[in-house]
Amino acid sequence: MTEVLELKKVVKQLQGASSPEDAANILRILKKDFKVTESILRESKAGLAVGKLRTHASKEVADLAKDLVKKWKTEVEKAKATTSPSPTGTYPLSPQKFSSAQSASSNGSSAPKAEVRTAKSDGAKGATGDQTRDRCTEMMYDSLVLDSSHPTALVEKRARAVEASVYKEMGSSTGADYKAKIRSLFVNLKDKNNPSFRESVISGDTPAEMLATMSTADMASEDRKAANRKIEEENLFKGLGAEEQQAETDAFQCGRCKQRKCRYRQQQTRSADEPMTTFVTCTNCGNRWKFC
Ligand SMILES: [Zn+2]
Repeated sequence: MTEVLELKKVVKQLQGASSPEDAANILRILKKDFKVTESILRESKAGLAVGKLRTHASKEVADLAKDLVKKWKTEVEKAKATTSPSPTGTYPLSPQKFSSAQSASSNGSSAPKAEVRTAKSDGAKGATGDQTRDRCTEMMYDSLVLDSSHPTALVEKRARAVEASVYKEMGSSTGADYKAKIRSLFVNLKDKNNPSFRESVISGDTPAEMLATMSTADMASEDRKAANRKIEEENLFKGLGAEEQQAETDAFQCGRCKQRKCRYRQQQTRSADEPMTTFVTCTNCGNRWKFC
C-alpha cells in the first residue's frame, strides 16, 4: 500500500532527524498530511516512533508528539466504531431472567447467602458412561450452575450438550485437545465478571455446539473486551512486546480503591492460542490482581 510506504519514509526521516526543529517539522507534516488506520500505524510503526517522542527532551517535540498521538488515537477509535460489529454480536446479553426457580430460599429462615451449587450438591451427572467424559460434564455443570437459580435438569442438559459438542469437535477423543478445551471453557464460564455468558448458555441463546469452537476472545465479557481493545490501542503507541512491562493505563478499575490508575504487564503462560495472563497493579493503593 502506497500510504504505508510513504508513511514509512517519513517515519525514517523522523527517526533520523538531526535536530529538535527537524523532528518538530516532520511531526507537523505527519499531522497535516497523513490519515491513519490501525493497520497503517502497525505496519509503518509510526505509532511507536511518534509515541516514543512524547518524552523527548525538547518540549516542542514532546508536545507535538502527544498531540499527534491523540489525533491518531481518535482516528483509530473512530474507524473501529464504524466497522466493528454490534457489541452484542456474539451472544445476546439477555437481562438476568430467573423465572422458574426463585422459590428455593423462601422457607422463612434467613439464610445468609446462597451456597455455591455444584454437580455434587445438586446430584447432576454425566450420561456417557465414560469416566473422563462424565467428569468433564460435571466440570461444565459446576462452571454453569455457580450462581444460577435454574433447575438442575436444565443446567445438566446444557452441561451434557456442551461436553458432547467438545467431544465431537475434537474427533470423538478425550485427548489433550479435548481436555484443554474443557479447561478453557471451565475457566471462562466460571469467570465471575461474566455472568451474561453463563446465562446465555443456560438459556440456549448461545447454543452448546457453538462453545466447542468459540475463541476465548468471543467468550470474554463486554467489560473485558473493552479493556482488551484499549490495551491493544495503547500498545500501538507504546511498543509493548508481549513480555515488556508495566504500561500505565486507565483501562482497569481497582476493585479496592476504585481508581483507574493501574500498571499492567502481560505474559504468555500457556500455548499461543491461549490468552495472555495480565498482571495488574493499582498504582494508587498497591492492590494486585491478575486475569487471563
Ligand atoms: Zn487501588
